[in-house]
Amino acid sequence: MELEQIYQSLGVSPQVYQFGEATLARLRQRFEAIDQMAEYNQGKVLHAMQENKVSAACFAATTGYGYDDVGRERLEKVYADTFHTEAALVRPQITCGTHALAVALSANLLPGDELLSPAGGPYDTLEEVIGIRESPCSLKEYGVSYRQVDLLPDGGFDYPRIREAITEKTKLITIQRSKGYATRPSFSVAQIGALIAFCKGIKPDVTVMVDNCYGEFVEALEPSDVGADMIVGSLIKNPGGGLAPIGGYICGTEKCVSRCAYRLSAPGLGQEVGANLGLLPALYQGFFLAPTVVAGALKGAIFAANLYEQLGYRVIPTGSEDRHDIIQAVELGSADAMLAFCAGIQAAAPVDSYVTPVPWAMPGYDAEVVMAAGAFVQGSSIELSADGPIRPPYAVYFQGGLTWYHAKLGILMSLEKLVQAGLVQLPA
Ligand SMILES: *Cc1c(COP(=O)(O)O)cnc(C)c1O
Repeated sequence: MELEQIYQSLGVSPQVYQFGEATLARLRQRFEAIDQMAEYNQGKVLHAMQENKVSAACFAATTGYGYDDVGRERLEKVYADTFHTEAALVRPQITCGTHALAVALSANLLPGDELLSPAGGPYDTLEEVIGIRESPCSLKEYGVSYRQVDLLPDGGFDYPRIREAITEKTKLITIQRSKGYATRPSFSVAQIGALIAFCKGIKPDVTVMVDNCYGEFVEALEPSDVGADMIVGSLIKNPGGGLAPIGGYICGTEKCVSRCAYRLSAPGLGQEVGANLGLLPALYQGFFLAPTVVAGALKGAIFAANLYEQLGYRVIPTGSEDRHDIIQAVELGSADAMLAFCAGIQAAAPVDSYVTPVPWAMPGYDAEVVMAAGAFVQGSSIELSADGPIRPPYAVYFQGGLTWYHAKLGILMSLEKLVQAGLVQLPA
C-alpha cells in the first residue's frame, strides 16, 4: 500500500506529500488529545440520547402543523441535556446561523432596549441584523440601540470600558466565541465565562447570548456551562455533523428559548408547531456524529496551521496554540494566493472538484468573498471549505472536513496549487 501513490493520483506531488508527512510527524500528541476530547463529548451526546430514550418512533416524518411531534420534542431535549440548558429550540425552519441569531436577539430585545457587544464587532451578517449597516427590519429600525466595546490591542477584554457601557438600558449582551472573518483570537469557554461573570456582577439580570458557531464540541464545556443564558448556532456547522441538511439551534433558559419560539413561529403558537418534514434522522444522527466530525476538522486546522507557519505565513491560531473553534485563518498576503489556496481546497472535494472558485458579492458581506466548497450540503462549512473576503490582510478562513483524511488532502492540495503558481517555494 503506497500512500504517496494514491496522493499522487489525487494531484499531490511527492515533494508536497513529504513536506506534509514531516509536519504531521510532530503532531501525534496533539492529535491524541483531540481524540480524547471527542471521546468525552461522544459520551455526553450518548448519555443525553439514552436518558431521553431516543427510539425509532423519534424518526417519523410529520407534515402540516406538526402538532405532537415526539421526535422533534425529544431532539430538543437531547440538545438541552447535552448542553446543560433548561430548553432548546432545534428546527429545520431556522434557515441558517444568522437566522438563529436574529431570532434570539429580536425575541429578547424590545424597543428602547440596548444590545451590548463587549468583545468587539459582531460577525459580518449580524451588522445588518443589528442595523450597524442599514437594512429593512434591523433591530435599529425597531428602536433597539447598539453599543460596542472593542477589544484591547492585545485581544483582551477592556473591562473598565465594559463597566461603563453597561447601563439601565442594557438588556442583552452578545458574545461571539469564534473569530469569524476577523483576525482576533477566538475565545475559550473559560474566557467567555469570566466575561459573563464580570457583566452579571454589574447587572445580574442582564441576558447573555453567545454566538456559538463553530465552537460546539471543541472543548469539554460549552458557554451554557459557564453562565450564558442562550447559546446559538447553525446545524450546517459543528452540531449537524455534516448530515443535517438545514437548521439552527438556540439552547438556553426556558424563558429565553420560549420567547425565541414565539418569535420564530407566532405569538401563541411557539414551540407547538413546526413539522419536521422527515429530517429528524439526519438531525439525530448528525448530532451523534458531531464530536468525531469536529475532531477531524480540528486535526485539519492544526495541520494547516503548522504547515503554513513553517512556510513563514502568519496563521491564527498559531500551530501550537489551544483551539477554541474549528477555524484556521492563514494570512496569504495577496488575492492571487487566496485564489490558489481555494482552488486547491476545491480540487480536493468529493463534489464539484472540477470547478474553479471565483470571488463574488455574497449577500450580507461588504467585500467580495471567495469560497471553496465541494459539499454534499450547499454552503455547509463543517464540510471542508475555505473562504474569505478579498481585502487586506488577504486571509483565508479554512474549516471543516467530515473526515480528517479529506481535510489532510485539501490542505496538501492548497499547498500544491500555491507551489504550482510559483507563490510558494518549499524548503529544499
Ligand atoms: C457562520 C457564522 C454565523 C452565521 O451563520 P450562517 O449560517 O452563515 O448564517 C454567525 N456567527 C459566526 C461566528 C459564524 O461563524
